[in-house]
Amino acid sequence: MQRSVPFFNYPSLFKQEEDKFVEIFRDIGRRGAYIAQKELADFEVELAKFAGAKYAIGVADGTDAIIIALKAAGVGPGDEVIVASHTMVATASSVAFVGGTPVPVDCGPDHMMDPTSAAKAVTKKTKAIMPTQLNGRTCNMDAIGKIVADNNLILLEDAAQALGSKFKGRDAGTFGVAGTISFYPAKTLGCFGDGGAILSNDEAVNREMRLLRDHGRDESGEVVRWGLNSRLDNFQAAILLHKLKTYPQVIARRRKIASIYQELLGGLTQLQLPPAPDSDERHFDIYQNYEIEAEKRNDLKKFLAENGIGTLIQWGGKAVHQWKGLGFKVSLPYTEKMFERCLMLPLNMSMSDDEVAYVAEKIRSFYSAFQRSLPK
Ligand SMILES: *Cc1c(COP(=O)(O)O)cnc(C)c1O
Repeated sequence: MQRSVPFFNYPSLFKQEEDKFVEIFRDIGRRGAYIAQKELADFEVELAKFAGAKYAIGVADGTDAIIIALKAAGVGPGDEVIVASHTMVATASSVAFVGGTPVPVDCGPDHMMDPTSAAKAVTKKTKAIMPTQLNGRTCNMDAIGKIVADNNLILLEDAAQALGSKFKGRDAGTFGVAGTISFYPAKTLGCFGDGGAILSNDEAVNREMRLLRDHGRDESGEVVRWGLNSRLDNFQAAILLHKLKTYPQVIARRRKIASIYQELLGGLTQLQLPPAPDSDERHFDIYQNYEIEAEKRNDLKKFLAENGIGTLIQWGGKAVHQWKGLGFKVSLPYTEKMFERCLMLPLNMSMSDDEVAYVAEKIRSFYSAFQRSLPK
């Protein structure tokens, strides 16, 4: 039977709890509580608690979060910042926007920043390293932390995709000076527009970031430095405050879907799957994405589309250093090879177990038909 399994179902984000969301909107509207109200303050407290961070602040989006964090950490002109090339362009562009130079490095088989490649990229100008906690997984932070310590660097994390993900029991976004989160609708904790946050354990950096996101104004309204307007809307904060309550169940469900994929696809030699949910006790992954590597990737993608299954190649099919217009000259072999093979399968909260099984079944039939067509 032909089914339709979209890569992501945007309307269902709203329809899942439509009455509750309308009630929240009505409440905010009737009070006129649009900007920097109680819901934002409450959400910041709950978010910090959830992630085990001392502080959290809501900002306009995940990209502003990185820019503000870099600025507060003192990154500026002349500074190099090591980033993974397999990341959203926002990680690197934020470095450029504060006047620094992003230095993209390679990834490894789990698609995370490769510590060996990162260590090789350190120069006299390196000021910071900012790994991306990609696809809902946290990097090996022991290995990254060693590079930081050996070279006296600042550690920041782009944890846009990793709220609730852990390495050795510690949450993504809490390892360094600051860690940034995105609430883009398709993120694991998504709002109804743009939204972001910054986690921190450093009081001075947190204070600086609070000033930067609100025109450089302190609590009394005194303008003490140049700043931006990058506040998380109170409506989005109210939605997120509500959704955070059931977020642990969201994580559990995402891990369940990943384990079904693992069970049904783990035997296929043509695929390389992401690490399974309990394959390494140091890592707790939340599966923002289920990014596989696949033989005959383009044919597989087409075949799945013909069978009603939506898939996606991350970042429009290129790593940061591969966009000609950005002027990078570096070559990163694993990342480049990976981008010819990578594909994200649907993994979202509107999928049933049946639909996960349907996706797996179609992938299996693609490869068995392909095997049969090979000359004996
Ligand atoms: C989504 C994302 C961002 C940007 O977040 P926005 O809220 O869309 O600005 C940055 N980095 C990574 C890795 C992301 O996935």
